[in-house]
Amino acid sequence: MGYKRYKISDAVSLIQETGVANFMRCNIWHVEGRDYDLVIDTGMGLDSLKQWVNRHTNRPIKAVVTHSHFDHSGCLHEFDERLGHPAEADILANPLNERTLFTGSWTRIGIIDPRQHPEFSPESYHVQAAPLTGYLDEGDVLDLGDSAYQILHLPGHSPGSIGLYDVKKRALFSGDALYDGELLDSLYHSDKSTYLQTLERIESLGAEVFHAGHYPSFGKDRMQQLIDSYREGNNSLGDVEAWYEENRLSMGDMFADQDWSGSHV
Ligand SMILES: [Zn+2]
Repeated sequence: MGYKRYKISDAVSLIQETGVANFMRCNIWHVEGRDYDLVIDTGMGLDSLKQWVNRHTNRPIKAVVTHSHFDHSGCLHEFDERLGHPAEADILANPLNERTLFTGSWTRIGIIDPRQHPEFSPESYHVQAAPLTGYLDEGDVLDLGDSAYQILHLPGHSPGSIGLYDVKKRALFSGDALYDGELLDSLYHSDKSTYLQTLERIESLGAEVFHAGHYPSFGKDRMQQLIDSYREGNNSLGDVEAWYEENRLSMGDMFADQDWSGSHV
Protein backbone atom coordinates (compact mmCIF):
# COMPACT_ATOMS: atom_id res chain seq x y z
CA MET A 1 0.00 0.00 0.00
CA GLY A 2 1.27 3.44 -0.85
CA TYR A 3 1.49 5.06 2.58
CA LYS A 4 3.26 4.75 5.92
CA ARG A 5 1.99 6.07 9.21
CA TYR A 6 3.91 7.42 12.20
CA LYS A 7 2.23 8.29 15.48
CA ILE A 8 3.40 11.72 16.68
CA SER A 9 1.11 12.18 19.69
CA ASP A 10 -2.23 10.80 20.93
CA ALA A 11 -4.16 12.76 18.33
CA VAL A 12 -1.64 13.46 15.57
CA SER A 13 -0.18 11.00 13.06
CA LEU A 14 2.10 11.65 10.12
CA ILE A 15 1.29 9.85 6.89
CA GLN A 16 3.94 9.61 4.20
CA GLU A 17 3.35 8.63 0.60
CA THR A 18 5.83 5.93 -0.42
CA GLY A 19 7.85 5.99 -3.62
CA VAL A 20 8.03 9.79 -3.73
CA ALA A 21 11.43 11.48 -3.33
CA ASN A 22 12.05 12.64 0.22
CA PHE A 23 12.49 16.26 -0.81
CA MET A 24 9.18 16.26 -2.70
CA ARG A 25 6.98 14.10 -0.48
CA CYS A 26 4.63 16.27 1.52
CA ASN A 27 3.74 15.55 5.11
CA ILE A 28 0.12 14.42 5.37
CA TRP A 29 -1.24 14.97 8.87
CA HIS A 30 -4.08 12.94 10.36
CA VAL A 31 -5.53 14.73 13.38
CA GLU A 32 -8.06 12.66 15.32
CA GLY A 33 -10.79 14.57 17.13
CA ARG A 34 -13.81 13.74 19.28
CA ASP A 35 -16.37 14.82 16.69
CA TYR A 36 -14.41 14.53 13.46
CA ASP A 37 -10.90 14.09 12.11
CA LEU A 38 -8.77 16.33 9.93
CA VAL A 39 -6.56 15.22 7.09
CA ILE A 40 -4.19 18.12 6.41
CA ASP A 41 -2.80 17.88 2.85
CA THR A 42 -3.23 14.88 0.60
CA GLY A 43 -0.01 13.99 -1.26
CA MET A 44 0.40 13.50 -5.02
CA GLY A 45 -2.54 11.13 -5.40
CA LEU A 46 -0.63 8.05 -6.60
CA ASP A 47 -2.75 5.73 -4.40
CA SER A 48 -6.05 6.24 -2.59
CA LEU A 49 -5.47 8.21 0.61
CA LYS A 50 -9.11 8.11 1.68
CA GLN A 51 -9.16 4.29 1.75
CA TRP A 52 -5.94 4.26 3.72
CA VAL A 53 -7.12 6.79 6.32
CA ASN A 54 -10.48 5.05 6.71
CA ARG A 55 -8.65 1.96 7.90
CA HIS A 56 -7.63 4.00 10.96
CA THR A 57 -10.79 5.92 11.85
CA ASN A 58 -14.59 5.65 11.85
CA ARG A 59 -15.17 9.36 12.35
CA PRO A 60 -16.12 11.80 9.60
CA ILE A 61 -13.14 13.43 7.89
CA LYS A 62 -12.62 17.01 6.83
CA ALA A 63 -9.80 17.26 4.30
CA VAL A 64 -7.89 20.53 4.53
CA VAL A 65 -5.44 21.61 1.86
CA THR A 66 -2.78 24.12 2.97
CA HIS A 67 -2.39 25.18 -0.67
CA SER A 68 -2.96 23.92 -4.20
CA HIS A 69 0.45 22.56 -5.31
CA PHE A 70 0.41 19.05 -6.77
CA ASP A 71 2.39 17.48 -3.94
CA HIS A 72 -0.31 18.57 -1.45
CA SER A 73 -3.56 18.33 -3.40
CA GLY A 74 -3.38 15.01 -5.30
CA CYS A 75 -5.98 13.08 -3.26
CA LEU A 76 -8.17 16.00 -2.24
CA HIS A 77 -10.80 15.02 -4.82
CA GLU A 78 -11.47 11.75 -2.96
CA PHE A 79 -12.87 13.43 0.14
CA ASP A 80 -16.48 14.61 0.52
CA GLU A 81 -15.55 17.63 2.59
CA ARG A 82 -12.73 19.69 1.00
CA LEU A 83 -11.61 22.84 2.74
CA GLY A 84 -9.07 25.46 1.73
CA HIS A 85 -8.50 29.17 1.20
CA PRO A 86 -10.61 31.02 -1.40
CA ALA A 87 -7.43 32.28 -3.13
CA GLU A 88 -6.55 28.65 -4.06
CA ALA A 89 -10.10 27.62 -5.01
CA ASP A 90 -9.87 28.29 -8.72
CA ILE A 91 -6.66 26.25 -9.09
CA LEU A 92 -8.15 23.33 -7.14
CA ALA A 93 -11.23 23.36 -9.37
CA ASN A 94 -9.14 23.65 -12.57
CA PRO A 95 -5.81 22.07 -11.67
CA LEU A 96 -3.85 22.49 -14.88
CA ASN A 97 -0.26 21.33 -14.43
CA GLU A 98 1.17 24.84 -14.90
CA ARG A 99 -1.01 26.02 -12.01
CA THR A 100 -0.34 23.15 -9.59
CA LEU A 101 3.40 23.44 -10.39
CA PHE A 102 3.74 20.02 -12.03
CA THR A 103 5.69 21.61 -14.80
CA GLY A 104 9.26 22.38 -15.86
CA SER A 105 11.88 21.04 -13.49
CA TRP A 106 9.59 18.80 -11.45
CA THR A 107 8.63 16.82 -14.55
CA ARG A 108 12.28 16.35 -15.58
CA ILE A 109 13.85 15.17 -12.35
CA GLY A 110 12.93 11.72 -11.12
CA ILE A 111 10.70 12.41 -8.14
CA ILE A 112 8.84 9.08 -8.38
CA ASP A 113 10.48 5.69 -7.73
CA PRO A 114 9.81 3.51 -10.80
CA ARG A 115 10.27 0.36 -8.67
CA GLN A 116 7.24 1.34 -6.59
CA HIS A 117 5.15 3.15 -9.18
CA PRO A 118 6.02 1.59 -12.55
CA GLU A 119 2.82 3.03 -14.03
CA PHE A 120 3.76 6.63 -13.24
CA SER A 121 4.43 8.85 -16.20
CA PRO A 122 5.22 12.56 -15.99
CA GLU A 123 3.53 13.03 -19.38
CA SER A 124 0.14 11.90 -18.12
CA TYR A 125 0.26 12.85 -14.45
CA HIS A 126 -2.13 15.55 -13.32
CA VAL A 127 -4.09 16.47 -10.22
CA GLN A 128 -7.79 15.70 -10.43
CA ALA A 129 -10.25 18.56 -10.01
CA ALA A 130 -11.31 19.00 -6.40
CA PRO A 131 -13.62 22.00 -6.03
CA LEU A 132 -13.65 23.21 -2.46
CA THR A 133 -16.86 22.49 -0.54
CA GLY A 134 -16.06 25.16 2.04
CA TYR A 135 -13.62 28.03 2.59
CA LEU A 136 -11.15 28.55 5.39
CA ASP A 137 -9.79 32.03 6.00
CA GLU A 138 -8.03 34.07 8.65
CA GLY A 139 -9.83 33.87 11.98
CA ASP A 140 -11.88 30.75 11.23
CA VAL A 141 -11.74 27.95 13.78
CA LEU A 142 -12.02 24.20 13.25
CA ASP A 143 -13.41 22.82 16.50
CA LEU A 144 -12.97 19.05 16.74
CA GLY A 145 -14.67 18.89 20.16
CA ASP A 146 -11.58 18.10 22.19
CA SER A 147 -9.13 20.32 20.28
CA ALA A 148 -9.44 23.39 18.08
CA TYR A 149 -7.42 24.91 15.28
CA GLN A 150 -7.28 28.58 14.34
CA ILE A 151 -6.84 29.24 10.65
CA LEU A 152 -3.99 31.60 9.78
CA HIS A 153 -3.72 33.04 6.29
CA LEU A 154 0.02 32.68 5.45
CA PRO A 155 0.48 33.95 1.88
CA GLY A 156 3.81 34.29 0.07
CA HIS A 157 4.68 30.77 -1.09
CA SER A 158 1.25 30.84 -2.72
CA PRO A 159 -1.56 33.41 -2.39
CA GLY A 160 -3.92 31.20 -0.37
CA SER A 161 -1.48 29.28 1.82
CA ILE A 162 -2.93 28.62 5.25
CA GLY A 163 -1.71 27.29 8.59
CA LEU A 164 -3.66 25.60 11.37
CA TYR A 165 -2.75 26.67 14.89
CA ASP A 166 -3.55 24.78 18.07
CA VAL A 167 -3.36 27.68 20.52
CA LYS A 168 -3.50 25.46 23.63
CA LYS A 169 -0.65 23.22 22.54
CA ARG A 170 1.17 26.03 20.70
CA ALA A 171 1.50 23.75 17.71
CA LEU A 172 1.36 25.11 14.16
CA PHE A 173 0.69 23.07 11.03
CA SER A 174 2.56 25.45 8.75
CA GLY A 175 2.20 23.93 5.26
CA ASP A 176 4.86 25.30 2.92
CA ALA A 177 4.96 28.72 4.64
CA LEU A 178 7.78 27.33 6.79
CA TYR A 179 9.54 23.97 6.78
CA ASP A 180 13.04 22.81 7.69
CA GLY A 181 14.52 23.28 4.23
CA GLU A 182 15.09 25.87 1.54
CA LEU A 183 11.90 27.88 1.01
CA LEU A 184 10.31 28.39 -2.40
CA ASP A 185 9.52 32.06 -2.87
CA SER A 186 9.99 32.54 -6.62
CA LEU A 187 7.16 30.42 -8.04
CA TYR A 188 4.78 32.00 -10.55
CA HIS A 189 2.34 33.05 -7.84
CA SER A 190 4.80 33.59 -4.98
CA ASP A 191 5.41 37.03 -3.51
CA LYS A 192 8.67 37.66 -1.67
CA SER A 193 7.64 40.68 0.38
CA THR A 194 4.39 39.00 1.42
CA TYR A 195 6.38 35.88 2.28
CA LEU A 196 8.63 37.87 4.58
CA GLN A 197 5.60 39.35 6.36
CA THR A 198 4.21 35.83 6.83
CA LEU A 199 7.53 34.66 8.32
CA GLU A 200 7.56 37.65 10.69
CA ARG A 201 4.08 36.73 11.77
CA ILE A 202 5.09 33.11 12.41
CA GLU A 203 8.10 34.40 14.34
CA SER A 204 5.93 36.40 16.75
CA LEU A 205 3.16 33.83 17.12
CA GLY A 206 4.55 32.10 20.20
CA ALA A 207 4.29 28.64 18.63
CA GLU A 208 6.59 26.00 20.10
CA VAL A 209 6.04 23.07 17.76
CA PHE A 210 5.98 23.21 13.98
CA HIS A 211 4.49 20.41 11.91
CA ALA A 212 5.43 21.51 8.42
CA GLY A 213 4.45 20.65 4.88
CA HIS A 214 7.78 18.92 4.25
CA TYR A 215 10.71 17.53 6.25
CA PRO A 216 10.80 16.83 10.00
CA SER A 217 8.91 18.75 12.66
CA PHE A 218 10.90 21.26 14.70
CA GLY A 219 10.75 23.61 17.67
CA LYS A 220 11.02 27.35 18.14
CA ASP A 221 14.83 27.57 18.15
CA ARG A 222 14.99 25.94 14.73
CA MET A 223 12.13 28.18 13.57
CA GLN A 224 14.21 31.21 14.52
CA GLN A 225 17.30 29.87 12.72
CA LEU A 226 15.32 29.17 9.56
CA ILE A 227 13.72 32.61 9.48
CA ASP A 228 16.97 34.42 10.32
CA SER A 229 18.70 32.52 7.57
CA TYR A 230 15.94 33.40 5.10
CA ARG A 231 16.21 37.07 6.05
CA GLU A 232 19.96 36.90 5.34
CA GLY A 233 19.21 35.51 1.90
CA ASN A 234 20.51 32.01 2.60
CA ASN A 235 17.43 29.87 2.79
CA SER A 236 15.51 30.10 -0.45
CA LEU A 237 15.62 27.81 -3.42
CA GLY A 238 15.99 29.44 -6.81
CA ASP A 239 16.64 27.11 -9.72
CA VAL A 240 15.28 23.66 -8.92
CA GLU A 241 17.24 21.72 -11.53
CA ALA A 242 20.53 23.34 -10.53
CA TRP A 243 19.76 22.55 -6.88
CA TYR A 244 19.00 18.94 -7.79
CA GLU A 245 22.19 18.50 -9.81
CA GLU A 246 24.22 19.93 -6.95
CA ASN A 247 22.65 17.75 -4.28
CA ARG A 248 21.63 14.46 -5.81
CA LEU A 249 24.91 12.66 -5.17
CA SER A 250 24.65 13.34 -1.46
CA MET A 251 20.98 12.38 -1.22
CA GLY A 252 21.66 8.64 -0.98
CA ASP A 253 18.49 6.68 -1.64
CA MET A 254 16.11 9.56 -2.02
CA PHE A 255 13.16 7.16 -1.97
CA ALA A 256 14.07 5.55 1.36
CA ASP A 257 11.48 5.67 4.12
CA GLN A 258 12.52 8.09 6.79
CA ASP A 259 11.02 8.06 10.23
CA TRP A 260 10.93 11.76 10.96
CA SER A 261 8.41 11.54 13.77
CA GLY A 262 9.24 13.78 16.68
CA SER A 263 12.64 14.84 15.41
CA HIS A 264 13.91 18.25 16.53
CA VAL A 265 10.83 18.87 18.71
ZN1 LIG B 1 4.00 24.27 -2.18
